[in-house]
Amino acid sequence: MSNKIYIFDTTLRDGQQSACARQLSLEENLMVARQLAALNVDIIEAGFPIASPKIKEAVTAIAQTIQGPTICGLARALEPDISECWDAVRFSTDPRIHTFIATSDIHVNEKFKSWGNTLAARRDRVIAQAVLAVKLAKSKTADVEFSAEDAGRTDLGYLIEVVAATIAAGATTINIPDTTGFCTGIEMYEKIKILKERVPGINQVVLSVHCHNDLGQATPNSLMAIKAGARQIEGCINGVGERAGNTPLEEVIVTLMTRADYYGVGTQINTEQLKQTSDLVARLLAIPVQPNKAIVGKNAFQHAAGIHVHGVTLNPEVYEAVDAGKIGQQAATIVLTRQTGKHGVQNRLTTLGYQNLGEEFINQFYEQKFLPLADKVGEVTDQHLRALMDEPLSNKPTEMIIYVNYDIAKRQNGWNAWLKVKLNPAADLLEEAGQGDGPIDALISALTKISAKLDLKFSLTKFETVGVARGANDLGEATVVLQDNGLTALGRGSSTDTIEAAIKAAINAVNQLLVARTEPPIIKDRL
Ligand code: MN
Repeated sequence: MSNKIYIFDTTLRDGQQSACARQLSLEENLMVARQLAALNVDIIEAGFPIASPKIKEAVTAIAQTIQGPTICGLARALEPDISECWDAVRFSTDPRIHTFIATSDIHVNEKFKSWGNTLAARRDRVIAQAVLAVKLAKSKTADVEFSAEDAGRTDLGYLIEVVAATIAAGATTINIPDTTGFCTGIEMYEKIKILKERVPGINQVVLSVHCHNDLGQATPNSLMAIKAGARQIEGCINGVGERAGNTPLEEVIVTLMTRADYYGVGTQINTEQLKQTSDLVARLLAIPVQPNKAIVGKNAFQHAAGIHVHGVTLNPEVYEAVDAGKIGQQAATIVLTRQTGKHGVQNRLTTLGYQNLGEEFINQFYEQKFLPLADKVGEVTDQHLRALMDEPLSNKPTEMIIYVNYDIAKRQNGWNAWLKVKLNPAADLLEEAGQGDGPIDALISALTKISAKLDLKFSLTKFETVGVARGANDLGEATVVLQDNGLTALGRGSSTDTIEAAIKAAINAVNQLLVARTEPPIIKDRL
């Protein structure tokens, strides 16, 4: 038996049939197909041509332009389906017609009621129809795949008959779909093994499985089928597809690569293209990948907890089973969260270019800045760290006014604001109210009154807020430019609350102006 596993991608067909999938334009279908060709999949199932003129147009365009993979179209075991399918895929240098009919009792009895009075009669008619369809497809192209729909729930004795008849009719690939994701791994193994043993001619065709993930078993079932002798795996990138989706191809591909010792087979996939393919499919179908998704999830190679960070810093293999570089992911990415220790934060700051940070500074930075932000946003990014570093630590002696909190209320003609601060060095609490057109305006007016108590009269020349955005609850960064007697100060502040970021930036600038009265050169011409 060959050691090569054929990868049959049905992202464009079964994947686009996901209830929530965005329907792709012609050009987008081609984009995905081009990426699948770059990934070097063996077969692209480009669509179900009879389903709609747009789908037929896309399958035709893919057959006309995509080189490399076999281009396949789906067709029920009916003459018009097979003709429409051939009409689209015939432009490919390697066209395949994939025809199917249902074989489980429940499908046969529901779908083909009029085909006989008994189950046995209906079953005979199903075999006759399948044979007719395969022969018709075979009259058009040498490469014909037959699927026994719902094979997962099909009586095994009958399945053997169906498969034997369709092989005799000329099918070159026999696909065993677990259409409803019903099988267990061992059942799948036994099904494939028995077919391999009992169906005449089975070794002349490629035996394939098409698993669904209704019970979360699509990948293990596909792998068990390979163990039993299946040599084609059907599935979709990111496991998209009907209901809970199809087999996530990246999981099968990377498992075969990582555990070649166990499975002893391989694919011809350019695995370095996996992440890029995953990103494209997620974006175009508008089906995001869960962060903890195996292989292609954003977190698949990220570490936050202290012990793990330490381990992967020594060697990624300590906590990573898969070689991230081989699948287009970045190995051992360390993410800063509140699980991260001080040393992790210090290492990242050093990487960002902040040198010679003393232990005392790191301790204060970690407690006052890093942890409170990590609690709010979860993951602290490099941009966050830079924003936090731009803000002075609150117990620096240069701070005459220390921000405590604020309150605002909307009034009929504008806003009222109350600003509470501590005044250094006595650290007395002080609260002032202000009014303005907007909440920030009102807070600046309160700050003006506080500054007046320290004999500072400033004017505001510039105000800007920028979201260091990653999500709704994220860090806003504000910059405020204040002037006093020809001195200019640029203040910065950051907070998950943009109003708070703004008032902190203004207080920061006021503090610089207050310090500048005694040490003007520090900030003179700062801008
Ligand atoms: Mn399917």
